[in-house]
Amino acid sequence: MNLGITGRTALVCAASKGLGKGCAMALAAEGVRVTILARGAEALAAAAAEIGVQTGATVHTVVADITTEEGRDRALAACPDPDILINNAGGPPPGDWRDWTRQDWIAALDANMLSAIELMKRCIPAMVERGFGRVVNITSSAVKEPIGVLGLSNGARGGLTGFVAGLSRELAPTGVTINNLLPGPFDTDRIRKVVVARAQKEGRPFEEMWAKRLQEAPMRRLGTIEEFGATCAFLCSVHAGYMTGQNVLLDGGAYRGTM
Ligand code: NAP
Repeated sequence: MNLGITGRTALVCAASKGLGKGCAMALAAEGVRVTILARGAEALAAAAAEIGVQTGATVHTVVADITTEEGRDRALAACPDPDILINNAGGPPPGDWRDWTRQDWIAALDANMLSAIELMKRCIPAMVERGFGRVVNITSSAVKEPIGVLGLSNGARGGLTGFVAGLSRELAPTGVTINNLLPGPFDTDRIRKVVVARAQKEGRPFEEMWAKRLQEAPMRRLGTIEEFGATCAFLCSVHAGYMTGQNVLLDGGAYRGTM
């Protein structure tokens, strides 16, 4: 299927690894002119090179912390007025709700709610003027099925989800769509670190805990970043033009509800 977005520009946040990289790869493969950002320069350059080799595209990079205003300024200086905006950032750490300070909450809100809102505020007006825009926010399955130890994530992402529910309807007549993509367990550095921590805590070998994690998954495997990227690219395509304000769960059947 031709996604109809060849030649469009995209800013993909937090994309030197994991889900963001999967999205950048899929968009580049569709002929989108992609700019990726992350804080670490080395992994970012490696990701751009890898995407270039796999897709033949030239991928632009910008070293930036998307949770800061300075980082967002740098990102938009490198990729002004993108047609496609993929919002993403690292997830907050797990913990106990009794321990979280105001500062912890502000950091979580900055990373997983306010940075996305700030970027939408700055990018959407030009999308509206052009009559085309696609925003995809990478959130989490925890929005639908909260995870207790990830309370900072549940709260911050819940706030973003509520904001997008209203804004997407307001923008419905304009040709700009906003959707949230909710990952369940995907095989990325982040989830491996979580399993390493769990293995250390329980004094078990990593391999045993990893096998257990896979066994718990309905498909007996985790999602791949390629699968995630393909869904993201579809949401950015012309074919998804009638779809806005949705929370698309991509979790291999892990959520056990009917709807
Ligand atoms: P990952 O493999 O650890 O990759 C995270 C990427 O984000 C890296 O490129 C990292 O590069 C970049 N990044 C982190 N903080 C950043 C910041 N402040 N500014 C710019 N770039 C930043 O993580 P992932 O698994 O792809 O997860 C992506 C998001 O999805 C996270 O919010 C995570 O909580 C959420 N999620 C993931 C899963 C899963 O199963 N993987 C499930 C549910 C939700 P630098 O560190 O160099 O900046």
